[in-house]
Amino acid sequence: MTGAAAATQSAAPSQQRQRRERPSTLALILNNRLAAVGLGILAVVVLAALAAPILPLADPDATDPANRLAPLFSAGHLLGTDALGRDMLSRLIWGTRVSLLVGFSASLIAAFFGSAIGLVAGYAGGRADQVLMRLIDLMMAFPYILLALAIVAILGPGLINALYAIAIVNVPFFARNIRGITVGLARREFVDAARLSGKGPLRILWSDIMPNVLPTIVITLSTTVGWMILETAGLSFLGLGAQPPQADLGSMLGDGRKVMFTAPTISLVPGLMIFLIVVSINLIGDGIRDALDPRLRSGALARPSFRTRMAKDRRRPQEEPIPADTSGGGHPGADRAGWNNEDHRDEAPILAVRDLRTDFHMGSEIYHATGGVDLVIRPGECLGLVGESGSGKSVTAMSIMGLVPSPPGVIAGGRIGFKGEDLAEASDRRIRQLRGGAVSHVFQDPLATLHPLFCVGDQIVEAIRAHQPLSRRDAETKARELLDLVRIPNAAQRMKALPHELSGGLRQRVSIAMALANDPELIIADEPTTALDVTVQAEVLRLLDELRRERNTAVLFITHDFGVVSEIADRVAVMYAGRIVETGRTEEILTQPAHPYTRMLIDCVPVMGEPERRLDAVPGRPPAVNRLPPGCAFADRCPRVEADCRTGEIPLEDKRGSLQARCLHPLSPGEALSGGATSKGSQGGKPHRPEPRYPGAHAQGTSP
Ligand code: ADP
Ligand code: MG
Repeated sequence: MTGAAAATQSAAPSQQRQRRERPSTLALILNNRLAAVGLGILAVVVLAALAAPILPLADPDATDPANRLAPLFSAGHLLGTDALGRDMLSRLIWGTRVSLLVGFSASLIAAFFGSAIGLVAGYAGGRADQVLMRLIDLMMAFPYILLALAIVAILGPGLINALYAIAIVNVPFFARNIRGITVGLARREFVDAARLSGKGPLRILWSDIMPNVLPTIVITLSTTVGWMILETAGLSFLGLGAQPPQADLGSMLGDGRKVMFTAPTISLVPGLMIFLIVVSINLIGDGIRDALDPRLRSGALARPSFRTRMAKDRRRPQEEPIPADTSGGGHPGADRAGWNNEDHRDEAPILAVRDLRTDFHMGSEIYHATGGVDLVIRPGECLGLVGESGSGKSVTAMSIMGLVPSPPGVIAGGRIGFKGEDLAEASDRRIRQLRGGAVSHVFQDPLATLHPLFCVGDQIVEAIRAHQPLSRRDAETKARELLDLVRIPNAAQRMKALPHELSGGLRQRVSIAMALANDPELIIADEPTTALDVTVQAEVLRLLDELRRERNTAVLFITHDFGVVSEIADRVAVMYAGRIVETGRTEEILTQPAHPYTRMLIDCVPVMGEPERRLDAVPGRPPAVNRLPPGCAFADRCPRVEADCRTGEIPLEDKRGSLQARCLHPLSPGEALSGGATSKGSQGGKPHRPEPRYPGAHAQGTSP
């Protein structure tokens, strides 16, 4: 096993390093200052309790009537003595040991049996669930502490019986919690898959459901241990737990009660200890809960911010202001990204992104998700942003409206010009006004972005009324018109439908209707058709294309599929490792790209009627964006790589026609890639251009 471990270690050192860069659970707990304080207090208390046998303590049960009720700090008795002359410090430490032991044991027992019942009931469902849950309900019908008292009354007083009683009354708590989660999990696809693979129910419970439930068990446990220690102390206080002369915190408190007025410290000392233990455990429990939630782990919810954080030193000193109208200004090379577009050359851009740099700060590492992106989109124009998964397309799109979660996201630099206004400098108020108003988003998965519990009509009405002072009735009329506009049949009826009642295509139409609700000037569509099947995809694309032409809306269309790009985009920007590597008019990019990466992406698109054409995936993997190599980021995967590709910055330069590429050895028109992963199957290395997959979609669009 160690051999194998060593092998993987040497094989994937970077992977190991990466794992370490994600904060560990302990690091996250310690990062939470209150939890760290709790952990510190509890560690001291537990260490003292564990060390009780070896500490130079007096016998906790040895009475010394001559020396009774000695005050604090008296000779030989740091915390004084109790009514029978027993050393308080010794009793406190031994008593804490007993209380912690009983409290933790009771919690573990309750967690074990409660979770087991919850798992079985939730997974089995049906009658087993009914019977188990009604029994649990029966237990929950009794007031909690009375039930514990009744159990001890039956079993007889004593520490072990108190432990059982506390454990039993806490079983329902775990059972209910865990059952609820298990019911949800038992119907998930990965559990179905496990069933299909032939696993038995016990193995599914153990290997598929248990790991998903474990964080909840740990969280519930960490937040209930404190309670259980308190309850154990309560039973002992009433004389039903620890029996004299044995000390535990509850019985010490009980002893102190009798001399409350003459010697208050005797009850204060154990009381304070109970307080410290319970508070510290609760603080740790909160810390554990935060740390184990995967969303908190990535930092997304740690301090949810309205807007992506902007780095203070965002502006580079030599930067000039954003040109309000023309294509001029800024830094010359990159500025021209897309300016050569004949159709839209004279119009002022709707969106002009310059040198956008968005970073993710993960532990000590900085990932440059976008490393200086330049984009320009003019009214009525559709820019296709293409690239492999992880190339930074979504981060680019989300940065525009400050939607990248912070932490860990930071906009480290660049300018985001929206109709001449720098959004990086705009106020939060202004951003809120623009979001869903002049700039709207359509995302990949409408099931995730639509509210599951409101009918779609209400959601569109809400989107309208967030930006327009319309009465509810007017907004409803408008919502119905929007549903008509996106060709949803029976719009009036569909207004009342819940998202899950609609098919994927209809849902995406609803998202588009919502995006159109406030007559946006820019629609950012992030893989809006990726989750749809091809025929529905074609319809949605056609719809989007028609709508933007009718309304002269600019569209930033993100996709990883060149087949889709050819349907809708006027211009294409190809992204790799956080940077634009090639841009130009769609026709030109598709027929004679200059950058080898673009060529490879295009070669990945299947062609109807050419089944013998071999589809080669682009070999290799993109580099990690925290340690980009010098020179071209694509060099390691490029068949045309030469020595100069690996040195120095490679600018985005004019190549031919409208094409600009970040490449020192670009392809000439008609040239196919030699060696490795190219269109070997296509005859004579003839460069291949993806045909519009859905005849008519493009032709229709070009008419106006
Ligand atoms: P895509 O091109 O597939 O849309 P993304 O823009 O989503 O890619 O991601 C670009 C890079 O940013 C990826 O390396 C991804 O791991 C990283 N990234 C995206 N979102 C986050 C996040 N919330 N936290 C940390 N890293 C992120
Ligand atoms: Mg994406």
